Amino acid sequence: MQRRDLTSYLFALKIHLYFVASNSEPDGSIRSSLHRFGKKAMQVRDLSTSYEHVPIRRITVSIYRVTTDFPESDGTLSWDHTTLVLVEAAAGNQVGLGYTYADRATAILIQDLLRKEVEGRNAMDIPGCWTAMVRSIRNLGRSGISSMAISAVDNALWDLKARLFQLPLVSLLGAARDSVPVYGSGGFTSYSIPQLQKQLAGWVEDGIPRVKMKIGRGVLGDVERVKAAREAIGPFAELFVDANGAYTRKQALLQAEEFVEEGVKWFEEPVSSDDLRGLRLIRDRASSAIEIAAGEYGYDSWYFQRMLDAGAVDVLQADATRCGGITGFMAAATLCQSHHLPFSAHTAPAIHMHVGCAAIPLRHLEYFHDHVRIERLLFDGVPTPVNGELRPDLSRPGMGFELKRADAARFAS
Ligand SMILES: [Mg+2]
Repeated sequence: MQRRDLTSYLFALKIHLYFVASNSEPDGSIRSSLHRFGKKAMQVRDLSTSYEHVPIRRITVSIYRVTTDFPESDGTLSWDHTTLVLVEAAAGNQVGLGYTYADRATAILIQDLLRKEVEGRNAMDIPGCWTAMVRSIRNLGRSGISSMAISAVDNALWDLKARLFQLPLVSLLGAARDSVPVYGSGGFTSYSIPQLQKQLAGWVEDGIPRVKMKIGRGVLGDVERVKAAREAIGPFAELFVDANGAYTRKQALLQAEEFVEEGVKWFEEPVSSDDLRGLRLIRDRASSAIEIAAGEYGYDSWYFQRMLDAGAVDVLQADATRCGGITGFMAAATLCQSHHLPFSAHTAPAIHMHVGCAAIPLRHLEYFHDHVRIERLLFDGVPTPVNGELRPDLSRPGMGFELKRADAARFAS
C-alpha cells in the first residue's frame, strides 16, 4: 500500500469511529456501544437456548372419511370415499398438523406404536424422531401402512417446528423458488366424456396450463377419450395421461404412438411401477416427445434408488404422505438431483406446496381433484392456484393451514 493510500485509509477509519462513537449512543462512548452489542448477542443466545430442547408433549390422531362427489376410478382401481388420517403434534405453545391419505389401520398404528416413540423427544430433532419411528416398525415392514403412518407424524413434526419458530415451513427448509407450478389432475375413467371435458377445460380456463386424465379401462376407448380431452383443452395446454399400470408393455408402446399424435407429453405408469424393465423399455422405445413418469408407490429411498438406477423414468414422482413425510420427500429430491432428473409431487397439494418450493429439482405438483376438495372441506388456509402456481402465504407459520374443527366433525370416523 502506498503511503498516501495508507494515510487516506487511516483518516477514513478515524471519521468512521468518530461517527460510531458520537451517533450510536446517548453518552457517545464506544464502550457503551459494545455493551449494547453484548446485550443483543445475549438475547440471541437466550433465544437459541430456549429452543434447544422443546419436548413433544402429545401426539393425537384422528380419522376423516369423505365421500367422493362422484364415483371415481382409474385404470386399475375404483373408490367412493377417501380417508384422511390427521396427526396433531403438540410442543411448547404450538400444535403442528400433518396427515396422510390412507386406511384407518394407519391411525391405529400411530396411536398404538409411533406415538410412544415420539412423545417426550425433542421437537427440534426431527431426524431423531424419524429414525425412532422407522426402527419401531422393523418387524411390520416398511412399505404401505407403516410408511404412511410415519409420513403423517413426520409432516406434523415439520409443521410444528416451523410454528415454534413462527416461520412458514418453506423458510425453515429454505426456498428454492417462491411458488410451485401445478397441474390439474382428475379426469377419472368413471367420468362421461362431457364430464371429462368440462373438468379439464375448467382448469385450463382457470389458468392452469397442464392437465392430467386417467386411462386404462380399454385401449380403443382410451384413445377416444384422449382425443376428446385435447378437443376440450385446445392445442396449447399440456395433456398428461396416467394408466395406473393398466397396460401390457406392447399395449403401452402402441398407445404411446397414438397419444403422441394428440400432443400427450406425459405417460404415467404405462405398465406396473414394479415392472422396472417394462418402464425402461417404453421409455427407450417411445417418442422422445412423451415422458415416462412413476414413483407414487415409493415408501422408502431404496425404492426410488432402484427406479432411478433402472433408468425407468424421465420424471420421478414421490408423495410426502407415503414416502416418510417431508423428511423422505427431501431425500427423494436429492436422489433425483444425483440422477439429473426432474421431480414431481404426487397429490396432497396442501402438504406439498411448501416442501415443493424447497425441493431443488421439483418441476410441479399434482393438483388432484379428490384431495383439493377434501383439503378445502377440512382446512382453512388452503391456497388456490394463480396463473397455474401455488404460492405459500408467508404470513402464516408452518404449512399455513388450520383444521376447521366444527366443519371437520361431520366427517370424523
Ligand atoms: Mg398416478
